[in-house]
Amino acid sequence: MRPLIAGNWKMHGLLSHLLEIDTIAASVSVKLPDADILICPPATLIVRAAELAAGRVAIGGQNCHCEISGEFTGDISAEMLKDAGASTVIVGHSERRQHHGETDAMVAEKAKAAWRAGLLAIICVGETQAQREAGNALTVCGAQIAASVPENMVSPSNAVAYEPLWAIGSGHVPTASQITEMHVHIRRCLVERLGEQGMELRILYGGSVKPDNAPAILALPEVNGALIGGASLKAADFLEILGALPPGH
Ligand code: PEP
Repeated sequence: MRPLIAGNWKMHGLLSHLLEIDTIAASVSVKLPDADILICPPATLIVRAAELAAGRVAIGGQNCHCEISGEFTGDISAEMLKDAGASTVIVGHSERRQHHGETDAMVAEKAKAAWRAGLLAIICVGETQAQREAGNALTVCGAQIAASVPENMVSPSNAVAYEPLWAIGSGHVPTASQITEMHVHIRRCLVERLGEQGMELRILYGGSVKPDNAPAILALPEVNGALIGGASLKAADFLEILGALPPGH
C-alpha cells in the first residue's frame, strides 16, 4: 500500500510560511518519494499553496461543513475547498471533536460531503489518556470507526488516522506494540464495516511524529503513513520524516 505522509498545520501559517511548501515541493520534484505527500495549511493559504505546489505536493483542508453552501457564517464547504485547489480534507480531528463539539455522526456527514465534492477524506479517531488507562482504548476507537466511517467509504485513497489524544503535541508516543495493536484493531473494524474494501484504506498514525521517532513508526507494517502536526511546519523536519520511509514500504 502506497504510504501517505500528511502535514496538518492547524492554526499556524501566514503567507510567508508558504516558503516551506515551496521547499518541500522543490525537494520532492528532485527526488520522487515513494509516498503520497499532503500538506493541510489553514484555509486562507489553500489557493496560494495549491498554485505553488503545482501538483508536486497535494494540498488539503483541515475541516469542512457538510452542506454545499448556506447560512453557516464562518464555515467552509467541501466544494469550496475543492474549488480552492484542495484534493483532501481532514475530518473529525480530535481538536474539532473537543473544541467544536463534533460528534461521530457529524464526522460521518463531513466525510460524505468530502466525497460529494470529489475530495478524499482522512477520518481521525483516537482515545484520551483516561480511556487508555481504563483499558478502553480499543473499544473507544472501534466505536468511533463504527459511527464516523460511512458505510460506502470505498476508495483506496481515503484514510483513517489513529491519533491518541495524549500523544498529540505532547512528545509522548505510544509504544510500537500499542500502535500495532490499535492499527490491527482498526483494520479489523474497517473490514467488519466495509468488507473487502476495508483492506484498502490507509491507516495513518498521528501524534508527536518527529524526525527521530519516524523511522521506527513508519517501519511498522500496519502503519500506512503518518499525520504530522508540529513537525510539518518546517520543511526540513517534514522532509526528514519523509526520508525515514523504509524503501518499498
Ligand atoms: C495532529 O494534531 O494531527 C498531530 C499529529 O499533532 P502533533 O504531530 O503535533 O502531535
